[in-house]
Amino acid sequence: MADHDPVPESAIECALAQFHDAAERLNLDSGMREILANTKRELSVSFPVKMDDGSLKVFHGYRVHHNETRGPVKGGIRYSPAVDIDDVRALAMWMTWKCAVAKLPFGGAKGGVTVDPKALSEGELERLTRRFGSEIGMFIGPERDIPAPDVGTNAKIMAWLMDTYSMNQGYSVPASFTGKPISIGGSAGRREATGRGVFFTTQEAYRHMGLSLEDATVAVQGFGNVGSVTAKLFAAAGAKVVAVSDSGAAIYDPNGIDDIQYVIKHKQEEGRLPPEHAGDHLPKDDLLTLPVDILIPAALESQITSANANDVQAKMIVEGANGPVTCSADPILEEKGIPVIPDIVANTGGVIVSYFEWVQDMQAFFWREEEINDRLERIIKEAFQEVAAVRERDGGTYRDAAYTLAVGRVVEATEDRGIFP
Ligand code: NAD
Repeated sequence: MADHDPVPESAIECALAQFHDAAERLNLDSGMREILANTKRELSVSFPVKMDDGSLKVFHGYRVHHNETRGPVKGGIRYSPAVDIDDVRALAMWMTWKCAVAKLPFGGAKGGVTVDPKALSEGELERLTRRFGSEIGMFIGPERDIPAPDVGTNAKIMAWLMDTYSMNQGYSVPASFTGKPISIGGSAGRREATGRGVFFTTQEAYRHMGLSLEDATVAVQGFGNVGSVTAKLFAAAGAKVVAVSDSGAAIYDPNGIDDIQYVIKHKQEEGRLPPEHAGDHLPKDDLLTLPVDILIPAALESQITSANANDVQAKMIVEGANGPVTCSADPILEEKGIPVIPDIVANTGGVIVSYFEWVQDMQAFFWREEEINDRLERIIKEAFQEVAAVRERDGGTYRDAAYTLAVGRVVEATEDRGIFP
């Protein structure tokens, strides 16, 4: 990129810039670049939902398939007021690379509805979910596209979606969605899988760097599925979780928040972090610039940007969320010597255990949680080791290495399959 070009900050601009950097390193020809820079198919839907007061409201949703060369596509469904087609495209592309890094036999997809799920009643949420599920049904199926939860969606929503898909087929299709409740073919360990994967990746990165997690200080941004589990596992491993935040507030205790379980319980029951917590409250965005050993942004994309990257004092960043460090922040952090373990390695735990769930549903034979966690640990640590080996070979950042590996694998698969017809 020339000096005068605008600095890309949006998820799609970053996703494309990261891809084109990898394409340069891999010396891809223009045809291959064009295939991989584009999404394979996109569905955009507008659909009405009956609200509790009798009115009708029209919602907008998307399902995007980025690439299916390595297998059926996989990726979450997001409910958020910020969902738009470009974000969904970026997230779908990241899923392709994530599945390739972890060597899962999947391509990448993503979906979402532009809605604040907290503003809906349970009935409205169910009607919206079932109607959206029907609208995107033509894209879905265990051999085509297997969605999972993401921001603003959960196991209950996956259950409604799986039931809707099954009703429309006329028989039960448990392998059509992952992240479901255990009672209908969900997998042991799925709920905690992404946070567990973030923890395993950090553990492996620390081992690789010859460091110990004991007493390492950790700040976690976002206290939903990924952030809360990550914080719990770090605390259990003897690290000091000094700060956590959600969309409303942050709590900070330089000596380590000693009762993470209580914070989790409070967040689950009350929907917010405990206001009476003994630690200091701090403006929530200040969490990102605390002097900690490990910073884990696990909320949303575009949190560490060119505007605040210079102020980051953490010794290492592990991306729990998708795209939390923008591509204009990356070179600033590199310059400062702060390694970033990228999302497409660090948060693959969710899709890895979703893969296990799909395998179990397809064979109708289920594994114990210890087996799930052991296999997750093996796959995600191996992925980190492979990325670290590419970085040692080629230089650059962990993100560069992860992209080189992932894009290279998709290119190899594309070449092996050949171009139809
Ligand atoms: P979630 O909805 O359960 O939690 C998101 C959390 O972020 C909430 O606690 C919310 O309050 C908080 N948050 C929102 N804005 C914030 C802000 N400005 N400052 C601090 N906190 C803020 O979502 P999740 O499933 O935990 O996903 C979090 C991230 O991880 C997303 O980027 C998602 O795409 C990614 N991810 C999730 C999974 C998964 O399995 N759930 C897998 C891979 C990646």
